[in-house]
Amino acid sequence: MDIPESHPRRLSLMTRNKLVDGVEKGITSKAGLIAHGRGEAFDYLLGEKTIPIAERAERAAVKAMLDADNPVISINGNVAALVPTDIIKLADRLSAKLEVNLFHRTDERISRIIEWLELHGGSDILGGKPDAKIPGLDHARGLCTEEGIFSADVVLVPLEDGDRAQALSKMEKTVITIDLNPLSRTANAADITIVDNIVRAVPNMLELEPSDAGFDNDHNISEVLRYISERLEGLA
Ligand code: ATP
Ligand code: MG
Repeated sequence: MDIPESHPRRLSLMTRNKLVDGVEKGITSKAGLIAHGRGEAFDYLLGEKTIPIAERAERAAVKAMLDADNPVISINGNVAALVPTDIIKLADRLSAKLEVNLFHRTDERISRIIEWLELHGGSDILGGKPDAKIPGLDHARGLCTEEGIFSADVVLVPLEDGDRAQALSKMEKTVITIDLNPLSRTANAADITIVDNIVRAVPNMLELEPSDAGFDNDHNISEVLRYISERLEGLA
């Protein structure tokens, strides 16, 4: 679909189109479209920009990944559709492994996502042959690789489901998420919560200097909620 240059919601519509294409290519699930809609609603509340509080979390995330022994980035159908090139560049910058890990798992969708990432320059992408299981999750939801997510000390799980984020946290990993909903279970289970749209957060993380000086995740989430409520007060 062509979107006129002048359309005021051009960026948002282009982002939606990437997901619709993702569904057509068999890499994004239909449920992924709904998840995106929920994210968009929160993005509206933030003003559709990276707020300074989110930038602080992005810096802390870059630092944690750079300091890790085995950092892994988990990819799902939305991440693959929205930021295929940048997520590969980010893995490069952070010396992190990429692992495809799906909530609505099918082997076919996993292979399509791996092919899609390879088309964008990725290599050695894990997830095609799971040989380990995250404790506490039912079989399909818990599958992962020993080399990747299972043995990771720091995992970046963007747009992740709450149960899985909590299960990873119980494994004593440092869990980093990108999630526009500061109230989600994932946002509150993570050690570093980036409340920002993935289409902005990942490019930012390619540029930002690492720093975790004074970073406190609970405080950061409170600040996001305060930011939103003050913004809404101002608009009211
Ligand atoms: P939880 O399971 O953590 O309680 P949930 O069930 O509401 O949350 P899920 O569908 O499990 O949500 O996870 C997807 C999350 O990703 C949602 O919180 C949604 O706000 C967020 N999200 C969707 N699209 C984006 C995006 N483009 N950038 C950042 N976050 C997004
Ligand atoms: Mg969920």
